[in-house]
Amino acid sequence: MNSQAVLVDTHVHYNDPGFAHDLETVRERARQAGVAAAVCVGYDVPSSRRAVMLAGQYPDVYAAVGVHPHDAAGMTPRAWEGLRLLAGSDRVVALGEIGLDFYRDLSPRDLQRQVFWQQLQMAHELQIPVVIHDRDAHAETMATLKEFPGLSGVVVHCFSGDRRMAEECLGRGYYLGIDGPLTYPKNRDLAEIARAVPLDRLLLETDCPYLSPQPWRGKRNEPAYLQAVAERLAELRGLTKAEVASATTANAIRFFSITL
Ligand SMILES: [Zn+2]
Ligand SMILES: [Zn+2]
Repeated sequence: MNSQAVLVDTHVHYNDPGFAHDLETVRERARQAGVAAAVCVGYDVPSSRRAVMLAGQYPDVYAAVGVHPHDAAGMTPRAWEGLRLLAGSDRVVALGEIGLDFYRDLSPRDLQRQVFWQQLQMAHELQIPVVIHDRDAHAETMATLKEFPGLSGVVVHCFSGDRRMAEECLGRGYYLGIDGPLTYPKNRDLAEIARAVPLDRLLLETDCPYLSPQPWRGKRNEPAYLQAVAERLAELRGLTKAEVASATTANAIRFFSITL
């Protein structure tokens, strides 16, 4: 290992075609940068299958399987069957990413709602945590989640709500996922939230290949850049990066029941 603080990237899309040609090098750079493990998150059935495959292949990769609101319209009975099977696979640590996206509305909202609800039901039955995608759908996402008080864990990934929503999440025992946008100078609201919430409820994530931290904005994101998010969080909270790393890594291990 190296002298850098050990992190877990709790939300990557290694299953994205953008990583197909150089995943070995990307994982090596992650390792060099102290990112010891990553949760590869599905967004439709084929990408979920690929996440499970990668998790079976690499000891530093875990899988989450699920259908993103963008892809809700593609859920045929056969796709549901496939998802259900995948959800029971080895090294699947969560159902995700699931939720509502009223910003891009790539699937009709009624279908988004239905597919979200059915996946929450599935996570509840299987007693695995959920990775929530919520874009411009805060009130409805929170209302829907409230119908499922028995979920084994909830992280609102790439948290973009306000202070009130953050408090509501914390009150219900949810975790907040913090990504590259924390490093954007104009993102003062997120900085304020990341400074104030209990450290034991934060999960660090890149959402790569999207959302590169400030120094790499506009380029493909990758887990090695997670150190920049940890650094910014440490700066905001007046802690060392090692302190932030050890707390958030412990959170990831606890939330996803993984081992490093
Ligand atoms: Zn997302
Ligand atoms: Zn994502």
